[in-house]
Amino acid sequence: MPDTLNIIPLPQSVKMGEGFFNCKGIPPVKGDGIFSREIDVFRQQLEACGIPAWIPAGQGAETGIVCRKVETLKDEAYRLKIAREKIILEASSGAGMYHGLQSLRQLFLSGGEGGGKTEGGFALPCADVEDYPRFPWRGLMLDCSRNFYSKNFVKKIIDAISLHHLSIFHWHLTDDQGWRFPVDAYPLLTEIGSKRYDKRRWRYTGGFYTKDDIREVVAYAAARHVEVVPEVDFPGHASSILAPYPGLGCTGGPYGVEDRFGIFEDVLCAGNDAIFDLIEKVFDTLAELFPSKWVHIGGDEVLYNRWNECPKCRKRMEETGLKNSRELQSWITVKLVQMLGERGKTAIGWDEILEDTPAYKLPPQAAVMSWRGRKGGAEAAERGHSVVMSPNTDGCYLDYQPVNDPDEPGQLGTSGIKQLYNMNAVDAGMSAEEASRIIGGQANLWTELVYAARIAEYMIFPRICALAETVWTEKKDFDDFARRLPLHQARLDKLDLIQYRGPLA
Ligand SMILES: [Zn+2]
Repeated sequence: MPDTLNIIPLPQSVKMGEGFFNCKGIPPVKGDGIFSREIDVFRQQLEACGIPAWIPAGQGAETGIVCRKVETLKDEAYRLKIAREKIILEASSGAGMYHGLQSLRQLFLSGGEGGGKTEGGFALPCADVEDYPRFPWRGLMLDCSRNFYSKNFVKKIIDAISLHHLSIFHWHLTDDQGWRFPVDAYPLLTEIGSKRYDKRRWRYTGGFYTKDDIREVVAYAAARHVEVVPEVDFPGHASSILAPYPGLGCTGGPYGVEDRFGIFEDVLCAGNDAIFDLIEKVFDTLAELFPSKWVHIGGDEVLYNRWNECPKCRKRMEETGLKNSRELQSWITVKLVQMLGERGKTAIGWDEILEDTPAYKLPPQAAVMSWRGRKGGAEAAERGHSVVMSPNTDGCYLDYQPVNDPDEPGQLGTSGIKQLYNMNAVDAGMSAEEASRIIGGQANLWTELVYAARIAEYMIFPRICALAETVWTEKKDFDDFARRLPLHQARLDKLDLIQYRGPLA
């Protein structure tokens, strides 16, 4: 008998029993009506992998999976009992039930495990599992601006991360290289801002998601208990806004949607009130399409050359009593946070938003995503902000190479799977109060060089499995993770995901 269930993330507590639950396909699933959506999705997921429904006959007719509501379990928690005669899953919420069903889905994808696939069927080892997440925010960011990925690929990734109990899909929708959703009052954002001339392919590339596409993705994710958090980047990374609306830049242009990669000096003109008209409409659109309380406002990598020289920006600084361009950026950030608040949304931004000024402090409700190492996260927690840890120094940047090898794809550095596994979202030196402000961790795939969905899969898997375990469980053991990983990668093969299989640096 195996001494644990070989699934990822490893549950908080597993007690192995004797024997197996045997079946020849998806057994009957009975449950409280409130879980019907979760049960339907679970069936569809297994059927999509060629596992047929199974109706036991005769003596086995009472067997199957029973899904029960148990009020005393915490929101995302589940209890799973696999016995010879039946499987019982308990949760108080749809999210908890979904996580439990995903743990079962993993076992079905490997034909049961430990015992392996029996003749013409599945053998799931008997076990008692108690499980719940360590952090609520367990995220993946996919940059769909630098490269446009199809709606179907986005859904494929959301389904795959939900297999690992991730809770957040952070959708990076705007950047210098493309604007990816329609805003009614500003049709040129998609007409012009979504396309760029791509010298690698000698043609225009790009695209955008229609409102119906976005609703479809959000609903698909919700059925998998994944929350979609949109990101729009202001006031930098704005070439795809400036190309169609050059009046919103300091120099008036002309501008183009960027084909190059990097940080560009043309940003939204902070002295022009018209930028806030546009931002209002953008936020209205996000509020219309995304039920999440979070909106990511970017806020990273803003160069100040244009603001320093722009008469309108200088006038704004004089009138508002701001000493320099840095203060001008905090002034904008505070405005963005307030504008979202008026729409019932909470802002989250990259750790640059912490670089505020005494007159324009970052409002306390704004959350901070720590990417330039861990320092921003520590400072934000100390100052009372909620924090998501996503340090590029700890393996969270999936655009980096998976191992330092010139034959591997990736740029800028190395994010090894072991390094990511060992990322602790909470710093050792944090007080209990500071630690309580860390709401989770996330991995990010920037896609400047990831110009095909198949390459994105290779960059994401299996590194995201390490992230999933590191933000789910309290008890981490890399050697044990490495032992479980090949079994788990065989499951991901059945989901048709291209994966890295080199050394686990
Ligand atoms: Zn200006």
